[in-house]
Amino acid sequence: MFKRVLIANRGEIAVRIIRCLRELNIESVVVYSEADKESLPVMLAGKAVCIGPAGAKESYLNGDILIETALKTECDAIHPGYGFLSENADFARKCEKNGIIFIGPSAEIIEKMGDKQAARSLMMAEKVPVVPGSKELIHSEEEAVRIAEDIGYPVLIKASAGGGGKGMRRAFSKEELVSAYAAAKAEAKAAFGNDSIYLEKLVLNPHHIEIQIMADKKGHVVHLGERECSIQKNNQKMLEESPSWFLKPKLREKMGDVAVRAAKAAGYNSVGTVEFIADDKGNFYFIEMNTRVQVEHPVTEMVTGIDIIKEQINIAAGRKLSVKQSDISLKGSAIECRINALSTGKITCLHFPAGYGVRVESHLFEGYEVSPYYDSMLAKIIVHGNTRLEAIRRMRRALEELIIDGIKTNSELMYMITYQPDFIAGQYNTGFYEKNKDNIEKTV
Ligand code: ADP
Ligand code: ADP
Ligand code: MG
Repeated sequence: MFKRVLIANRGEIAVRIIRCLRELNIESVVVYSEADKESLPVMLAGKAVCIGPAGAKESYLNGDILIETALKTECDAIHPGYGFLSENADFARKCEKNGIIFIGPSAEIIEKMGDKQAARSLMMAEKVPVVPGSKELIHSEEEAVRIAEDIGYPVLIKASAGGGGKGMRRAFSKEELVSAYAAAKAEAKAAFGNDSIYLEKLVLNPHHIEIQIMADKKGHVVHLGERECSIQKNNQKMLEESPSWFLKPKLREKMGDVAVRAAKAAGYNSVGTVEFIADDKGNFYFIEMNTRVQVEHPVTEMVTGIDIIKEQINIAAGRKLSVKQSDISLKGSAIECRINALSTGKITCLHFPAGYGVRVESHLFEGYEVSPYYDSMLAKIIVHGNTRLEAIRRMRRALEELIIDGIKTNSELMYMITYQPDFIAGQYNTGFYEKNKDNIEKTV
């Protein structure tokens, strides 16, 4: 097992990893930017090293400094968390070259799956259903029009390097496609430093269902059931739950099997997520694989009782999975709400919910200064209940207890979501927010 691990991240996920390392009796070294000097990871880690100014390019995205720090502090491994360099194959390769274990899949796999079009091609070859669309990257407007006519409008232009809900444009006609083409390319270039794009059929208001998988370096692969992530705003998830009320047992089993097949096809060897969209008829299509730990991993932990980060570290250290597929079942119901900052400033009063079935993942403390430099997520409130209704009631009561003063957050908005009839019925898709927007927002 590792003696010391460097955490190349910040915020709640850095805290989550530090806590896990402590339970595994592994020392932690966290890196931080000048903007994060007064932060919880810095206070909780065994050691903290400042690696540069606030701008992520010069700190959390600077692979060379991260590796240099890991070598200097004699870390055996680096945990990249999510975002930043977590899906960067070059960084994973550099770690490998320097004799440091990258806690994630090997560079080659990240390369294969991180490029969304390449991942689609691999899945097509393995007969995993993908959304109808281009077979390769698109190189010209004419090609885009030809493919769109083939699959039929509406279509979605997607950036092959895209992530975080960014880099997508809809087109309902040839005119819209032609006018969006250049803009989509420019946008992808600006956001991801890569202007590769591809085309998918736009499935109207699909369900976003993803399957958590775990694979060790000895060839064992299991899935931990699904997460329903259809409550989104601007293609960004807001609330996630497991199990999904939309999935019937047969479909759940089928999607789990396909996800395991996809992971095996990729030669996967870490924890990861296979994302699908599904229509009301029960057709489902692969959209992408996230080769890292996901923001919403706690909902799966709450229903399976499996610590996904612990498994991820054990796998990286060469150990075999602690469970077989037959050991895994989903118990009760779990829901997560992402609490995001809508402004910056100092937290003047903070009170987190607690009590039976409530879990909070956050890096906040009273007096903490929310800066504009990074992701706006402040906390994740996760609840577990024996039934879904119990989980919903518990989430409402948790959000009622939550106090974050000094800045604006989306917590009241999240609270209103838990009262929408479509949510209560568990019958919703990615059209949920748009459909219920007035009800959710008018009261806030
Ligand atoms: P999930 O929420 O399913 O884990 P996301 O795609 O929302 O996955 O990414 C997790 C976090 O990582 C986001 O909150 C975002 O801050 C960050 N992130 C992911 N991809 C990118 C990207 N290409 N550029 C900037 N940030 C990203
Ligand atoms: P990211 O890498 O940013 O997470 P994804 O490919 O996972 O991008 O898509 C993010 C979200 O966009 C999905 O959860 C879904 O709501 C929507 N989406 C993606 N592809 C399609 C599609 N072909 N049709 C309709 N909606 C889609
Ligand atoms: Mg995604």
